Amino acid sequence: MRKPTQPIVIIGGGIAGLMAARVLMEAGEEVVVLDKGRSGGGRLATRRIGDATLDHGAQYFTVRSPEFAAEVAKWEEAGWVMPWFGSPNVRYRACGGMNRLTKHLAEPLDIGVRVRVTAVHPDPVGWKLDWVSEEQDFVPQMYDEVMPEDVYDPGAKASVKARAVILTAPVRQSLYILRAGETELPVPLLNELQAVDYLPCLAALVVLDGPSAVPEPGLWRADHPDSPVQLVVDNSMKGVSARTALTVYACGRWSKEHFNEPDEEIMRRLLADAAPWFKGANIVEAQLKRWRFSLVHKPYPGLFADAGLQAPLVLAGDAFIAPDDSTQSGRVESAALSGMAAARHLLKVLPVVD
Ligand SMILES: Cc1cc2nc3c(=O)[nH]c(=O)nc-3n(C[C@H](O)[C@H](O)[C@H](O)COP(=O)(O)OP(=O)(O)OC[C@H]3O[C@@H](n4cnc5c(N)ncnc54)[C@H](O)[C@@H]3O)c2cc1C
Repeated sequence: MRKPTQPIVIIGGGIAGLMAARVLMEAGEEVVVLDKGRSGGGRLATRRIGDATLDHGAQYFTVRSPEFAAEVAKWEEAGWVMPWFGSPNVRYRACGGMNRLTKHLAEPLDIGVRVRVTAVHPDPVGWKLDWVSEEQDFVPQMYDEVMPEDVYDPGAKASVKARAVILTAPVRQSLYILRAGETELPVPLLNELQAVDYLPCLAALVVLDGPSAVPEPGLWRADHPDSPVQLVVDNSMKGVSARTALTVYACGRWSKEHFNEPDEEIMRRLLADAAPWFKGANIVEAQLKRWRFSLVHKPYPGLFADAGLQAPLVLAGDAFIAPDDSTQSGRVESAALSGMAAARHLLKVLPVVD
């Protein structure tokens, strides 16, 4: 059998894309992961501020399915993750920060970072993907219909061909990329995908000059889901940071309401609300992170969506949740399960090359 000349391309190097790529690589497929970020990892994000290290996307993950448990057991064995707290629903943290886990997962893979895919076009070999190199460090994010692509000033432009594509960006971004390439989805599928929704999240990253008042094990969660400050994590108590550094998360409702306000205004309010956790310590530095797509609010009813077009094209990610998943919430686990299921599906439907 002739080896296919075009790779499978995965858009997005978050946990879904990485798990999909590993399944395909283990099956002997040539696979390339493209991610617009400075490194992969997506919402498994860790930032360094001086000698402080702060997780500022997912703080932990839980394990409910036997399939994900088998993966996590391997990660624990390798020293990549360890239990943080909780029983029987153990919350796992990644050693060195959540992003480090995705770096380990990406090690054997061919991954291109700072590559923003802007369009996926139908092509005789399968698909043609346009991409631009992400040379801008900051692309303004607004909570409305404007996508970063609309205001983006591209650096180097190029395209790559693929025999199959898996899109793992948040669904609205994936739909944007498909629309830009005039790749039309069947209307019923498009309607279901357009219904998928995520909550935004505003997070303050705060480095302190002394210990915080966050209780053991380094995490405080509000009793009410609409409290403006929803979660406060002390990254040094968590074992991630060399110095006291808090991540302060606003709830979805508050984040949506204030998303388009200037940084200073958001920080002024968030820091005032979080002040009890600073216990008199001074703020050394504070930065804001805007997650336009944070937790899934309305999921897609299935582990992935096959577009059913002229060549394989599958959408996956944390919003793709099996109807029998009792949580129906987008999580690290749902993203990993979706990525693996999408890849296994692709292996079944890929045309045989002769
Ligand atoms: C603040 C916050 C708190 C959370 N807390 C928890 C928690 O406690 N427990 C839990 O289990 N989960 C939590 N989550 C959710 C969890 O992080 C996500 O469910 C999971 O990481 C999603 O993985 P993914 O691969 O589906 O998507 P992502 O991680 O979003 O990956 C998608 C990737 O696609 C890339 N991309 C997007 N567009 C393009 C493009 N045009 N070209 C190239 N690349 C592109 C992005 O850069 C990104 O890396 C939290 C998330 C946030 C933001």
